[in-house]
Amino acid sequence: MIGILGERLAAAAQQRSAAGLVRRLRLSDNAAPGRIQLDGRELIDFASNDYLGLARDPRVIAALRRGAQAEGVGARASHLLGGHRTVHAELEQALASWMGRERALLFSSGWAAAVGAIAGLLRKGDCCVQDKFNHACLLDAATLSGAKLLRYPHADLRGCATQLRAARRKTQAEDGILLVSDSVFSMDGDVADVAALQQAAQQSKAWTMIDEAHALGVIGPGGAGAAAGVPVDVVMATLGKAIGGSGAVIAGSAALIEHLVHQARSFVFSTAVSPALASAMQTAVGLARDENWRRERLQTLRLRLCKQLKQIGLEVSSTTPIVPIVLGSAGRATALASSLESMGIYAPAIRPPTVAPGTSRLRLSLSADHSEADIDRLCGALEQCLAQLGPPEIPLSQPPDLP
Ligand SMILES: *Cc1c(COP(=O)(O)O)cnc(C)c1O
Repeated sequence: MIGILGERLAAAAQQRSAAGLVRRLRLSDNAAPGRIQLDGRELIDFASNDYLGLARDPRVIAALRRGAQAEGVGARASHLLGGHRTVHAELEQALASWMGRERALLFSSGWAAAVGAIAGLLRKGDCCVQDKFNHACLLDAATLSGAKLLRYPHADLRGCATQLRAARRKTQAEDGILLVSDSVFSMDGDVADVAALQQAAQQSKAWTMIDEAHALGVIGPGGAGAAAGVPVDVVMATLGKAIGGSGAVIAGSAALIEHLVHQARSFVFSTAVSPALASAMQTAVGLARDENWRRERLQTLRLRLCKQLKQIGLEVSSTTPIVPIVLGSAGRATALASSLESMGIYAPAIRPPTVAPGTSRLRLSLSADHSEADIDRLCGALEQCLAQLGPPEIPLSQPPDLP
């Protein structure tokens, strides 16, 4: 390959391959609920974020079809230049009311929402305090904003308070501090103590932002998320996970949203969300809010899974549909994932850089689309595959202490 950049590509490819971190884009085809079709084979899908089973709900599909007929597929413009439709405003209203905030603003993805909100709020001189396990988009957004990024060890409230005090010392009177945390952590499935974070932030006169990507629709009263009822300043959620579509939302005070309408560059300079999709998301939000049986079903499946995992020697204590099985090296996680796949189960290995080195894992995610029999098949296969894999490198399922 020619030139410095060409050489860089070749060196990076070489490194990936040596470290066992090559990823492959696999083609998947539509399949029955709870299933995924990969390379022509149907597998039980334990990797989807469609926790409530809404992505293929007939009522959501019908709403998309109706929306496309009535409103067209594309918005044809950004929200500020003629692309903001009634269906967008209605969806924003529904989300704001569900999440218990004054107003909400739509973005085309969670990534765009994170970047728009954090870089729209913070500037050079400010500080952004974040949990080390926060989603990549939150960390990148802080970097882009020009603020100083201070991270604390995962879920460590004292570490958080220490960094908030450090942020106070590092900033001038006119500089802002924003504490940012996932509520449900995407690769560990644990839940942040949102009320305690908010109080710690308030003591340092900082604002709090909570990313409810894996929480909206899944936990909290009526699925309203982990931050429901807590006076956090900025709440973010994606429509791409439990809501079963795509797009995202920032919710908060009217003043915050008004500010972001002007200052969130990923909102201002981006095509409005598809009105057909907004119409489907309106229906999906209604179902996610009202159909409690979907959350109850997830609960039942999770309890069944945890009980059976315990019987095969895997202690897990997840309270969410995300159940990680930490294995150690990338090679070990990949080996387990591929033997599960040969038994009809899709639970891909999660490796660095998504998780810290030495904590490669299977991330099992449950969906209301799964049956009890699916869980039983998963656990039966896991028991068999783990036996083939040989003795563990680390105590199974407990992430080692990280630096
Ligand atoms: C998936 C995810 C996002 C990104 O949302 P998209 O809509 O997929 O861009 C943001 N934060 C967390 C915690 C996530 O898991």
